[in-house]
Amino acid sequence: MQEPLIIYEEKCTGCGACVKVCPFSALSVEPREGRTLPESRFRNIAVVNEACTACGACLPSCKFDALEVRDIEQKGSEDLESFTGVWIFAEQRAGEIQDVAYELLAEGRKLADELGEELSAVLMGFNIRDKAQTLIEWGADKVYVVDGAELEEYETDLYTDILAALIHRYKPEIVLAGATSIGRAFIARVAVRVKTGLTADCTALAIDPEKRILLQTRPAFGGNIMATIITPNHRPQMATVRHKVFKKGAPQPGRTGQIIEEHPKLSLARTKVVEVLHEMGNQVNLAEADIIVSGGRGLGGPENFAMLEELAKELGAAVGASRAAVDAGWMPAYHQVGQTGKTVCPKLYVACGISGAIQHLAGMSSSDYIVAINKDPDAPIFDIADFGIVGDVFEVVPMMTKVLREG
Ligand SMILES: Cc1cc2nc3c(=O)[nH]c(=O)nc-3n(C[C@H](O)[C@H](O)[C@H](O)COP(=O)(O)OP(=O)(O)OC[C@H]3O[C@@H](n4cnc5c(N)ncnc54)[C@H](O)[C@@H]3O)c2cc1C
Repeated sequence: MQEPLIIYEEKCTGCGACVKVCPFSALSVEPREGRTLPESRFRNIAVVNEACTACGACLPSCKFDALEVRDIEQKGSEDLESFTGVWIFAEQRAGEIQDVAYELLAEGRKLADELGEELSAVLMGFNIRDKAQTLIEWGADKVYVVDGAELEEYETDLYTDILAALIHRYKPEIVLAGATSIGRAFIARVAVRVKTGLTADCTALAIDPEKRILLQTRPAFGGNIMATIITPNHRPQMATVRHKVFKKGAPQPGRTGQIIEEHPKLSLARTKVVEVLHEMGNQVNLAEADIIVSGGRGLGGPENFAMLEELAKELGAAVGASRAAVDAGWMPAYHQVGQTGKTVCPKLYVACGISGAIQHLAGMSSSDYIVAINKDPDAPIFDIADFGIVGDVFEVVPMMTKVLREG
């Protein structure tokens, strides 16, 4: 791929003004000597590296008109055809493949089959080689494995270096990752590194049958519209998807595929993990819970979440909250369900004193069964509830807990 910045060698004086303003450290000044360049009375010349994002910040700094950003359409379209295959980033934590990876494999399999191409997974970590076969059984045709002691804990720089290097080398057409804390931390950097776009938090993915490009759908304008985003001029087409947006498939024991061990050159990590603290302690993890009891502004105050916790205990449920309850400081942010909170897909979701704003629904509407308790019969939550109870949470919730407790 050509660098997106053109440096006119006959005009450049090697003054270094562009180097100072580049926000990505993508420019340096080097001696002309030993290079086959047009004759010049200047000893140095500016050189661009692969960190260049074509942002154009350097252009005004050049008094000699020696810089130009290459036409994006032209740059992008020159070798689109050479990118093939669908990739998913197979996130693991402490050596355990995360469910979001299986969900991406199920969705990636559909996309790859529609394109008639291969589905590959990228797995990085320490002592994780033996997990590659599991990914094949869940749908991958190939697994690229990077296994090393440096990768024992997640590290943004290393993950970015590795995935960007693999993309440069193998040129996948589509790259999908989970919108988890790890995915969010490094995937955008990879997209910048490989000079392509990224659509975060997609809620649906599809292939345009005519153009064979990825249709990336996500909520926009505060969740009021669904936008379908495309990446027509650059590759790979990159998207992140939250946990539980797609359903897992089923493994096929004994399925065969190719495992490719990679040893990319790693830069030194700039950070070091000192200690890993588990925020949730022993509580039920919201994203994994089969039953969730959630509370909203209708609970009236933080003390009333104790009432929900009692119901949750009887049901073996996790406790969730609307953003209104979180913003009011009644519940910690990791309990928030919705567009800017967690996406959940439990078997049963009990919404207590929650109105059903579109941003809340974005995080829970795919629950198998929804029970809503609200004193307003016109509350929008009743539009999607399977069972609606018009009543006061302070009467209904303790009654439910009592019935469950006493059988
Ligand atoms: C960009 C953006 C992102 C957002 N992200 C999220 C998100 O991730 N998650 C989220 O939840 N929201 C999110 N919101 C906020 C969202 O728009 C709503 O403001 C929020 O969901 C409302 O929370 P609520 O239903 O608890 O409160 P309200 O809308 O105030 O509803 C309270 C409900 O409780 C009922 N009620 C009151 N007292 C009782 C009682 N005693 N018994 C029974 N019912 C009672 C009322 O009838 C009412 O329906 C986002 C908003 C924006 C703009």
